[in-house]
Amino acid sequence: MSIEDIKNSIRNVPDFPKKGIQFKDITTAIKNPKIYREIIDLMAQEFGKKKIDYVIGIEARGFILAAALAYKLGCGFVPVRKANKLPAQVLTQKYALEYGTDSLEIHADSLEKGANVLIVDDLLATGGTALATAKLVKQLEANIAAFAFIIELKDLNGAATLEPYGKVFSLITW
Ligand code: AMP
Repeated sequence: MSIEDIKNSIRNVPDFPKKGIQFKDITTAIKNPKIYREIIDLMAQEFGKKKIDYVIGIEARGFILAAALAYKLGCGFVPVRKANKLPAQVLTQKYALEYGTDSLEIHADSLEKGANVLIVDDLLATGGTALATAKLVKQLEANIAAFAFIIELKDLNGAATLEPYGKVFSLITW
């Protein structure tokens, strides 16, 4: 299987959730067991030799990747969620989306000082979502080993926003 096969399995939905957005729908990729496995295996190959304690998944599509990757790497899984979803004490960070603004939260006791984390989401657009996650991780004094995405929308230059915080890995650029 090639990267092109993975790319071809992702559905482009024009004008969702609003006019002008080309939504990259990964549901058509991950419903195929070979492609879902290949995505996780390729990410695991990239990070298997690095010292990672936790894989952080960003709600909601990041969970689908981060949980499988954490299992494969033998790491813990830590969720970063939209506001008011996590039950215990949280840290909150506002962020800008390609289409709107929101807040992200992490449990205040979820990462030990100095822990090495990998931040995972399905897609990197402007970088606002992953940057907010990075700021939460930094507030907890953990280290960002890297950011990992299936898709990077190159024209939006999100990698430049994230690189001061950690290396950016993406399987596919669009
Ligand atoms: P950003 O914060 O601009 O990097 O946007 C990334 C976040 O928004 C990720 O959680 C993506 O799932 C979602 N997202 C942004 N743009 C798109 C898009 N064109 N297609 C699918 N998801 C997107």
